[in-house]
Amino acid sequence: MTRLTPAQGEELLLHGDPIELGQQADAVRRKLFDDTVTFIVDRNINYTNVCKNECKFCAFFRRKDHKDAYLLSYEEILDKVRETAEAGGTQVMIQGGLHPDLGIEYYEKMLRLIKENFPQITIHSFTATEIQYFAQQAGLSILDTLKRLQAAGLSSLPGGGAEILVDEVRRRVSPKKIMTDDWLHVMECAHSIGMESTATMVIGFGETMAQRIEHMEKIRRLQDKTGGFRAFITWTYQPGNTELGGEKTTGWDYMRTLALTRLYMDNVKHIQGSWVTQGERIGQLTLGFGADDLGSIMLEENVVRAAGTRYEMSINKMADLIRGAGRQPAQRDTEYRVIRRFPSP
Ligand code: SF4
Repeated sequence: MTRLTPAQGEELLLHGDPIELGQQADAVRRKLFDDTVTFIVDRNINYTNVCKNECKFCAFFRRKDHKDAYLLSYEEILDKVRETAEAGGTQVMIQGGLHPDLGIEYYEKMLRLIKENFPQITIHSFTATEIQYFAQQAGLSILDTLKRLQAAGLSSLPGGGAEILVDEVRRRVSPKKIMTDDWLHVMECAHSIGMESTATMVIGFGETMAQRIEHMEKIRRLQDKTGGFRAFITWTYQPGNTELGGEKTTGWDYMRTLALTRLYMDNVKHIQGSWVTQGERIGQLTLGFGADDLGSIMLEENVVRAAGTRYEMSINKMADLIRGAGRQPAQRDTEYRVIRRFPSP
């Protein structure tokens, strides 16, 4: 299949038939994965909700002096990791706000404690936004910051914080957050030391279709260079309880965009559907629109919940959901290796 150009991608996002796009995306998925659909069991640990960035689309952060502001202790973090391991989880995703009082040593100690106590748990943590902040605080380069965190136990980076990688959009919705080139630089540095990552795109900020394509194009180009993105994940902006406000993205817009990501991001192997922001039924539908993975059974999720969206999921429910779409459920690890299959009940 020849690679879609940005102009073709934009045209498909604007006028493509969602069902036709879905069928094409599904054919590409089937060639790669046949009937297998994966998911991971993990826990989000949001170690603090204190954040100096105050993004307008974020319902999670609190100012340091707010009555609901918190910072978890190491003991509380370790308890959450223990519960994750006991529930059959294999990964923790630790993410937080940009807390003004913590330095890189705090994160190094956190990582070391987790690895010493739970060597079987993969630490897939910290967004590019946090990495850049840790580096600034420590007066280190991004590369040296990542090397120190890697030595302390950090395995890979989640792709959060990308939103739409077009500065015009970023300046409008999160002016204090890192800009496009910074996000890409963190990812390139991480990939250069063997620290792979995922990539995300959040739609629904009022961005144009051309801007969505610009976002995808930037990630596709970096992937051509590094090969370090394991998956591409499209989320929808959750307007509840945020300063930015606005309307929720429609299911059709999401499905069309998701199918296009499978076709456009031809060098990223895994496309993840989102049940966390879309709910179970749309999550299930994504499996016919190019997604081969349904992400995580999150034992804890605070950020989307803060915006008023909450869906519950268990391992059995996830397996049933995948079977209901005519696919074979499989639990995976952080590197997308299948570690458990679920035969028909
Ligand atoms: S999105 Fe992240 S960086 Fe922005 S305010 Fe929320 S926690 Fe802070």
